[in-house]
Amino acid sequence: MAEHDLISSGAAPARVEPLACIECGRLWLDGRERWRIYVLDEDPPETVPYCPDCARREFG
Ligand SMILES: [Zn+2]
Repeated sequence: MAEHDLISSGAAPARVEPLACIECGRLWLDGRERWRIYVLDEDPPETVPYCPDCARREFG
């Protein structure tokens, strides 16, 4: 029995507030989804999350 597997599997993003897709506004509530996070080269750096659907539409 490996109890720690229960913790590491399907882990949600370690954030207090869920990320929201910059395109459609959907919240990242399922840690198993593969969202893309882009960091804009600004000061301070800005993170731009894309849900899987919008990432596919925007970036192929
Ligand atoms: Zn989206």
